[in-house]
Amino acid sequence: MQVLHDFPELKSARAKITGKLGFVPTMGALHAGHLALVKEGRKFADKVMVSIFVNPTQFGANEDLAKYPRDIAADLQKLKGLADYVYVPRVGDIYPNGEKITVKAGAAAEGLESDFRPGHFDGVATVVSILFAQVKPDIAVFGEKDFQQLMVIRELGSEVEILSLPTIREADGLAMSSRNVYLSAEERKIAPLLYSSLRTAAEAIHIGAGLPRSSRNDEIRGKLEEKGFKVQYIAECWGRRLAAVYLGNTRLIDNVALNFIKND
Ligand code: AMP
Repeated sequence: MQVLHDFPELKSARAKITGKLGFVPTMGALHAGHLALVKEGRKFADKVMVSIFVNPTQFGANEDLAKYPRDIAADLQKLKGLADYVYVPRVGDIYPNGEKITVKAGAAAEGLESDFRPGHFDGVATVVSILFAQVKPDIAVFGEKDFQQLMVIRELGSEVEILSLPTIREADGLAMSSRNVYLSAEERKIAPLLYSSLRTAAEAIHIGAGLPRSSRNDEIRGKLEEKGFKVQYIAECWGRRLAAVYLGNTRLIDNVALNFIKND
C-alpha cells in the first residue's frame, strides 16, 4: 500500500497505474462502513485508492471541523491489505488558490440537509469534483448512509461510474459513523432508536397498514422527541425515509428504503 502525501506524489503514482482504478473518498476516522466501500471497489477495479481529507468547505461556521476525529495512523493500519493507494492531501493540494472555486450542487441538494446545513453540498460537490479531476478514477464508491449526498454526486454527471453500498450498521442497528464517538454512554444506548423507528414505519408502509405517511412521520418525530432526540427533519424522497436528529450535541443522520428492502 502506497501513501501519497500530496498532489505531486499522487500525479506520479497515477501515471503508473494501468487497468481500472476504483476510488473511495473519505474524511478518515475509518470504520467498517468505509472498509466495505473499499472491498466493493476491489470487486470492480484492478487497483483501489482511498482518499482521506477533512474537507473544510463542507462544514458550516458553527460545525465540528476543528474537532472532527482524525487518526491517520489508525486509518492506514485499517487500510493495509485492502487499499493499494491512500491519498492524504493537504488543504493546499485541493484548494491551491484558497477556497475560491465552487461547484454548485444541483437540484438533489435542495431541502433536507440543506435546510440545516446551507452550502454543505456545494462543498461536497466541489471537493468530489476536484478529487475526481486529480485522481482520475474509473469508478468511485459511496455509501447510502449519506443518501442525499449520493444523489448530489450522481447529478454531477461525471464520467466516473458511481457505485453505492447500503449502510453498514452496528449490531444494534446504529448506522456506523465517524461522529458516533461524540456520543456519551447514555446517548449511545438510545441512538439505535433512530433506525428502529424509521424502519418500523417503513415496514408498516410495506404491508400497507395504518396511517397516511405524513402522520407516520409525526408519530416517529413524537416518539424520538419523547426519548430526548431533537429532530431536524423526517421526510420522504427517492423512495426513502430520511432523517436528521441531534442527540445531545451529536448530529446523526439515517435513512431506510420505504419498500423495506432487507439490507437497507
Ligand atoms: P465520510 O468519511 O463520513 O465522509 O464518508 C465517506 C464515505 O463513506 C461516504 O461515501 C459515506 O456515505 C460512506 N459511509 C459513511 N458511513 C457509512 C456506513 N455506515 N455504511 C456505508 N457507507 C458509509
